[in-house]
Amino acid sequence: MDRQQQYVLRTVDERDIGFVRLWFTDVLGSLKSVAVTESEVEGAFAEGIGFDGSAVDGFARVQESDMLARPDASTFQVLPWKEGSPGVARMFCDIHRPEGEPFAADPRQVLKRNLSKASQMGFTFYVHPEMEFFLFKGADDPTPLDRGGYFDLTPNEIQSDFRRQAITMLEKMGISVEYSHHEVAPSQHEIDLRYADALTMADNIMTYRHVIKQTAMRLGVHASFMPKPLTGEWGSAMHTHLSLFDGDSNAFYDPDDPYRLSDTAKHFTAGLLRHAREITAVTCQWVNSYKRLVPGYEAPVFISWGRHNRSSLIRIPQYKPTKAASTRVEYRAPDPACNPYLAFSVLLAAGLKGIEEGYELPPEAEDNIYEMTEAERRAAGITSLPASLDQALSVMEESELVAEALGEHVFDYFLRNKWQEWEEYRSQVTPFELERYLPTL
Ligand code: GLU
Ligand code: MG
Ligand code: MG
Repeated sequence: MDRQQQYVLRTVDERDIGFVRLWFTDVLGSLKSVAVTESEVEGAFAEGIGFDGSAVDGFARVQESDMLARPDASTFQVLPWKEGSPGVARMFCDIHRPEGEPFAADPRQVLKRNLSKASQMGFTFYVHPEMEFFLFKGADDPTPLDRGGYFDLTPNEIQSDFRRQAITMLEKMGISVEYSHHEVAPSQHEIDLRYADALTMADNIMTYRHVIKQTAMRLGVHASFMPKPLTGEWGSAMHTHLSLFDGDSNAFYDPDDPYRLSDTAKHFTAGLLRHAREITAVTCQWVNSYKRLVPGYEAPVFISWGRHNRSSLIRIPQYKPTKAASTRVEYRAPDPACNPYLAFSVLLAAGLKGIEEGYELPPEAEDNIYEMTEAERRAAGITSLPASLDQALSVMEESELVAEALGEHVFDYFLRNKWQEWEEYRSQVTPFELERYLPTL
């Protein structure tokens, strides 16, 4: 048993933890949990905990369903919302086959595989997400809280309690919050997490979504990461700031470049741009994701980069242009309902490809691309992100880069599952159609 595992056993004992939840994530990004009692933790470290993988979306077929969850002791945290004794804690797990090898459909393994490629190239991958979400009256009632007097408590009071409680909870779980504010749409919030290595951050995002939902529930409201819940209002993004470090130094920084960007950063950005269409099904994985990616709501539509231009897909933030450590690129397409392990995997793969192949960064888009005509955009070589899930899937299907980054099992399952979602959606008759056609046709 290693030192971290010993620390967990000691803490379980000293803090009177009665149950440890073993967390992992399915292919579409839902959090799964198997609880063990205190006495089973040692065994879980030694042998893993067996569970039926066929019950998990995207995992195994029935005939090969035995899986082992092996807890990662470095992720041990007491759950602060489970007051009283005995307490409850959690650890994230890696999923293995009974024979011992890592299970290819476990998103955490997928990210680890991509990170090890980065590390072979000499890089550590850091990310910093800006997570937006809405608070609504209920799961079946998307009434925003800052309009109308639907509540006894003033809605603003609920929302300020909410932010305070959620941030306290996150900090107690070792997740540092950098920034929080009300977003543009009614009842829309943003809480940003301080940057961390991509694996830690993917775990943190899973925890974050859970904490936000828990906190809302305790206040009798509903938190949603749905990308575009309200027609005619802003959607929710997960802008993701990306950087590569080489040891302690930021490999994206070059003080002598007019943009302060190293060649590594430029090739990486060029990789993101060149492969943006292929990876969009993963960063924006729901039918609803594409209702967000339309002009007029600060969401990206066109594939370009810029320093000042917030309509770009990729922005180079200029807050502290001379500070080496904070040099990064901000990729603005992802939404907060993605699977963060898979999203970080494809973003990294696209960027690394740019470095490996030495892709050249196209010129910065200085103008507002939305004000250009289609012909002007074509002349400037600016293409668009996929406009719907089926378009995104058609491009992804042809992508060697995504197939390699996700691995065959996840790639095939994801496409199968998502085409099915698209087919179900396609056959729906929507309120839009009834309103528009029924009176006159
Ligand atoms: N909510 C916007 C989006 O869906 C982003 C707003 C912002 O710039 O923070 O992309
Ligand atoms: Mg924002
Ligand atoms: Mg941003």
